[in-house]
Amino acid sequence: MNAYTSKGIVDTFNRHINYLRVSMTDRCNLSCRYCAPFRPELIKKEKVPTLEELYRLIEIGVSLGITKIRLTGGEPLCRKGTIDFIKRLRDLEGLKDITMTSNGTMVANYAEQLKEAGLSRINISLDTLDSNKFRRITGADLFSDVWEGLSAAVQCGLNPVKINMVVMKGFNDDEIEQMAELSIKFPFHIRFIEYMPIGTDLLSTQTSFMPVSEIEKRVARLGGLKPVASNNTDGPARRYRLEGGQGEIGFIGSMSSHFCSSCNRLRLTAAGYLRPCLLSDEQINLIEPMRRGLSDTEIKKLFILAAAKKKREHRLNFSNSRVLKTSMVSIGG
Ligand code: SAM
Repeated sequence: MNAYTSKGIVDTFNRHINYLRVSMTDRCNLSCRYCAPFRPELIKKEKVPTLEELYRLIEIGVSLGITKIRLTGGEPLCRKGTIDFIKRLRDLEGLKDITMTSNGTMVANYAEQLKEAGLSRINISLDTLDSNKFRRITGADLFSDVWEGLSAAVQCGLNPVKINMVVMKGFNDDEIEQMAELSIKFPFHIRFIEYMPIGTDLLSTQTSFMPVSEIEKRVARLGGLKPVASNNTDGPARRYRLEGGQGEIGFIGSMSSHFCSSCNRLRLTAAGYLRPCLLSDEQINLIEPMRRGLSDTEIKKLFILAAAKKKREHRLNFSNSRVLKTSMVSIGG
């Protein structure tokens, strides 16, 4: 049974919910073809939680045992005030870890401030090392900005710097090995992510999909791929290191190998809904009840309800992909 215990929220399947992903905004300066190829309609400004409202919701989550926050989006650095917001979060008692997923295009400008504000680590999305292909994937000519962002993040100690690569068959799978080799020369943790059929018709056919088993085989061909012992901040990635590597390799198989049994997450969307699962449209409106004057205790009950709605595992597959109506940028990937 779902319950709030001395450990925090424990859901129906005995999963301890201590991780909140927060979509800071549905705005993004890129339009990645696997994420937001047709710009979804933007959430009306007045519907977006203010930073004050967002802080209150996070504070309530932390009082229920959330210890880790990831700021995402959209592009979190597109929202004004994100750095000061991190500073405020840093002082929240009980919150141990503040991380971010970013497209990296603005990280070179903000890396030091982010570190100083209290960000512990950063994941930067980069799906190709070819600047022309980068433009075709993202719609923008900003490959070198992302590369500078990666260097700046390493230099200022946002450690580890992870690179998220969404592998799309026939499009960037020819770069798997090259991307893996980056982890030898640089201290990057490369995370190969299976393409998920979310919010896009463009690549929603199974032909774009490459399972992590296949990606792993390609990386293993380089030789010397060794497992690394996991710790509790690893999330769903299986971790490895190439011989002599400064960094690591991780594989995230959201479609082919469910990691739902260890899912410890809730997601706060850019529109202020609490979502039990990335891959299901079910969500609970927090912002409207909060604006109607709900007390913290009543909002806590909504958090516990959201955890109660977590299913044993997600049901998304390629034949029912259109069932998912919410876009990745508003949910927060
Ligand atoms: N703007 C930031 C960025 O580009 O990293 C944060 C938001 S983005 C939605 C976060 C992550 O979502 C990306 O790293 C990407 O891996 C993941 N993502 C988006 N669409 C995806 C898809 N269709 N399949 C797999 N991963 C996806």
